[in-house]
Amino acid sequence: MSYHIVDMTDPSEPKPVLLSKHAKHLVRFLHLLPARLSSHDNTRSTIVFFAVCGLDVLNSLHLITPQLRKDIIDWTYGGLVIPRDNEKQQAGFMGCRAMLPQTEDVEVLECMRKYQWGHLAMTYTSIAVLVTLGDDLSRLDRQTIVDGVAAVQHADGSFSACIDGSENDMRFVYCAATICHMLDCWGSVNKETMFQFIMSSLRYDYGFSQELEGESHGGTTFCALAALELSGQLHRLDAATLERIKRWLVFRQMDGFQGRPNKPVDTCYSFWIGAALRILNGFKLTDYAKNREYILSTQDELIGGFAKWPRSSPDPFHTYLGLCGLAFIGEPGLNDVMPSLNISMAAYANLNQLHEHWRGTDDLKQLRLTGDATTKSTSSSSPLISAQ
Ligand SMILES: [Zn+2]
Repeated sequence: MSYHIVDMTDPSEPKPVLLSKHAKHLVRFLHLLPARLSSHDNTRSTIVFFAVCGLDVLNSLHLITPQLRKDIIDWTYGGLVIPRDNEKQQAGFMGCRAMLPQTEDVEVLECMRKYQWGHLAMTYTSIAVLVTLGDDLSRLDRQTIVDGVAAVQHADGSFSACIDGSENDMRFVYCAATICHMLDCWGSVNKETMFQFIMSSLRYDYGFSQELEGESHGGTTFCALAALELSGQLHRLDAATLERIKRWLVFRQMDGFQGRPNKPVDTCYSFWIGAALRILNGFKLTDYAKNREYILSTQDELIGGFAKWPRSSPDPFHTYLGLCGLAFIGEPGLNDVMPSLNISMAAYANLNQLHEHWRGTDDLKQLRLTGDATTKSTSSSSPLISAQ
């Protein structure tokens, strides 16, 4: 027996964004990981990030019950590596809990410590989830986490993901910048060599590549521009260079956006290219209707979610980035997204409040240390403030 679905929608009408189906789709990933995604268990923090932040963009955080919110926050902190004094380089969040054995056996626990270290992408997404859920980050030692970030910076300014060794490229430059910006602390991270690495990856066509002499890429160009903005260094690029980068980005639009010349368009580039253009105030140069039409062609109308291509399976990554792409064009019902941090503007406002609170507290600490509240100016001596 076969079933034929009769499409009753008027083809001349724009397709609706199925907001409640997308929300239901994302909630599902907070309860279980489908078998087809089991190989992603080691990066489960990123799936939580797509689901939680996606619900935020959908204005649907109320679907996360108080108990589930507590469980997600506790689970997230469960991945935090708290290093001993001689292990500072291991600080950060892990992506999964496989290295956390449920045992009281001291020998086993001690042995497993050797396999526990933070990963920059997992640290970024974990902090973003906590901020989005309204956590005050009080369980974090910000300075120690930034020590972990500085420990994976290379002499050329790039970053690896973790101390165990991994590729060092623009993706982890971006993650390092998000972590330091969100924690309002750059510690001993070298922003100058980071800038030099980013600029050495600007190619002849004015896109950025993953590393020296690679091919310009849309995701990488977003990472480079966002890292420059978050580290307060975007102003170092001259106007002509910025215009040429903008041109490379605008030319990535076909109907949706592609990541590189001569590649097929893909839903996620509505975020990568869209966010890069928003950082440069150039997003208005794009065709909103064509962009929307492409993203909606990848919408799963049965179970919700977005895929990279039409008639493909939806996944949390393309669902979240598709929603962000729609938020950029002002789709009704969606919350706006802060382009360089890739969290909602509401979550970004929470983060700024935390920064204000920390700066006040750090000033107070400094006053107590100096023991003289009347004659010394402390605001300029705070490393956390001067870092911005
Ligand atoms: Zn994609």
